[in-house]
Amino acid sequence: MIPGSFSYHRPSSVQEAVGLLAKLGDDGRALAGGHSLIPMMKLRLASPANLVDLAGIADLKGIRSDGNDIVIGAMTTQHDLIGSDLLAAKIPILRETSLQVADPQVRYVGTLGGNVANGDPGNDMPAVMLCLDATYHVIGKGGERRVPAREFYQGAYFTALEAGELLTAVRIPVPPAGHGSAYEKLKRKIGDYATAAAAVVLTVSAGKVATCSIGLTNVAETPLWAEEAAKILTGSTLDAATVKKAVAAAEAITAPASDARGPAHYRTKMAGVMLTRALGRAKAKARG
Ligand SMILES: Cc1cc2nc3c(=O)[nH]c(=O)nc-3n(C[C@H](O)[C@H](O)[C@H](O)COP(=O)(O)OP(=O)(O)OC[C@H]3O[C@@H](n4cnc5c(N)ncnc54)[C@H](O)[C@@H]3O)c2cc1C
Repeated sequence: MIPGSFSYHRPSSVQEAVGLLAKLGDDGRALAGGHSLIPMMKLRLASPANLVDLAGIADLKGIRSDGNDIVIGAMTTQHDLIGSDLLAAKIPILRETSLQVADPQVRYVGTLGGNVANGDPGNDMPAVMLCLDATYHVIGKGGERRVPAREFYQGAYFTALEAGELLTAVRIPVPPAGHGSAYEKLKRKIGDYATAAAAVVLTVSAGKVATCSIGLTNVAETPLWAEEAAKILTGSTLDAATVKKAVAAAEAITAPASDARGPAHYRTKMAGVMLTRALGRAKAKARG
């Protein structure tokens, strides 16, 4: 289908973009890679009168270290994440997850900022950001603020972003050296959104789990941070009985829709299977 007509704006600075979005109000919408927004516009599920393209803003691109954090510009593409030596060394779950997002064509233009700001529970990056305890840098006409990813998602396509606000960057604390991580995603075919997926980051000390964090994708209206499940696993050797208890705790917080990817009960169970696999692989990679 063909989208409704719109005006196109291409600012060259964050300030210019924020000014435009403030002026346009509800009639304006940020455009990043366009791989969620344009399909929505073609289906007439979104009809913004103005698109504010962020592609010309150099400040929104790049991956850098800042103390113990890594800061990734909102317009950094999934392809850039996959190619980053810094991320491969410090936060390898980002490369692993990016490789499971869509297909190479989408990953060349789809951005991290668009993926996390979109609010679609099917996007893979938000659950990973909850797992990593990331913080989002947000700017609007009222100035800058920082929002923990764990407080950002409020419902399907509802986030803490106020009208006219831009996400400029994602800040991620680097997990301890020797940590293990994994992102396990069940999909019907290459390039599909998750039926269910689980992100795990853990550390091990003397054979026992010292710290653990878990995120779940596409099994509720928002990405989920499975805090109780992670607590159950902490201090354990990931023995079968404890994993079973933790999986039950994770499954208990899911509320997936029944859709073309399967009935709700199946998707909840698949979240448990993905979590079990991710835990096993993360522990195998951890040193300690
Ligand atoms: C065939 C296909 C398969 C896909 N499969 C997957 C998949 O398996 N997993 C997955 O995670 N995704 C998948 N996607 C979605 C893809 O990853 C998108 O690129 C991503 O969801 C949005 O990023 P974008 O840069 O394209 O954002 P856009 O589509 O440009 O924007 C998405 C939304 O975020 C807003 N936005 C964008 N950037 C900002 C910003 N900096 N500040 C504030 N608001 C902003 C826009 O206004 C819009 O509402 C798929 C897409 C396609 C077309």
